[in-house]
Amino acid sequence: MDIRRRDFFKLTALGSAALVTGSANASEHVADPDYDEMYGVLVDTVACIGCRKCEWACNDANKLPTQELKAFEDKSVFQQHRRPDAKAYTVVNQFASPVDPDKKFSLKVQCMHCNGPACASACIVGALQKTEQGPVVYDAWKCIGCRYCMVACPFQVPAYEYANAVDPQVRKCTFCFERITQEGKKPACVAICPNEALTFGKRGDLIELAHSRMNANPGRYVDHIYGEYEVGGTAWMYLSAVDFNNTELPKLTSQPIPDTTETIQHGVFKSFVPPLALYGVLGLVMHSLRKDGDREEANHG
Ligand code: SF4
Ligand code: SF4
Ligand code: SF4
Repeated sequence: MDIRRRDFFKLTALGSAALVTGSANASEHVADPDYDEMYGVLVDTVACIGCRKCEWACNDANKLPTQELKAFEDKSVFQQHRRPDAKAYTVVNQFASPVDPDKKFSLKVQCMHCNGPACASACIVGALQKTEQGPVVYDAWKCIGCRYCMVACPFQVPAYEYANAVDPQVRKCTFCFERITQEGKKPACVAICPNEALTFGKRGDLIELAHSRMNANPGRYVDHIYGEYEVGGTAWMYLSAVDFNNTELPKLTSQPIPDTTETIQHGVFKSFVPPLALYGVLGLVMHSLRKDGDREEANHG
């Protein structure tokens, strides 16, 4: 990347954002998007065997530091809970199943590619965008390193390259954007999955598939497709035998988060609130949205 161009952005973007107030948010929303026609992935945690091949394939496809595939057979990593970071855009965690302790429960986590991404909404220079194909993509050239996206994301996904002193970037799952849109391939993690725990397709078709799996296998899954409605819907969705409240996927309302973050952000720029205060405000919003998720579930439960 041309660092001088990026430095220019760093010097000008915050000031420009304050001047243009309401239009500071550069995340462009597609008019009346048909999310059912966008790409998504259905993660069937019942089928996931925790083999970690998806982790290797992701590292390989994204040219992240990695080891040979065999090294990913090491299951000792499951002793610690892991999160995606700047060197691993997806990780699999494994626990004893809360329903049957003799069984394992494995959960692959990565960016959810939300229909209304809070990260894009919080980004004042439009470095993160929801594409019309579905993936939420990142443009390092535009990024000024403010890290508002990290605070805004309800899934705590975007990671920052703190160890890169020269040109640190925000990192997250790319949904293998070029592979799927230009090469006509499946995402690398989906392509390697040996047990059909990952299904790639149009979001609407995946929701139908999820319902047909639940109907065909009574008692196999809880009656909940995680991501169908959470935060207005996500491109990556999950099926599970375990109540999602017992997983690391956060309890969230069906309200899209950008509705909240954009309002706050515009108010912040109008009032010239310093960036540190914005971190605090966004953090409080995320905290309260999680609480609302608890309440929404109690009301429906
Ligand atoms: S490759 Fe498939 S089965 Fe293996 S851990 Fe990843 S999602 Fe699960
Ligand atoms: S999961 Fe987080 S990083 Fe991914 S699209 Fe949603 S808000 Fe953005
Ligand atoms: S879609 Fe691509 S970038 Fe995202 S987790 Fe799968 S392999 Fe990694």
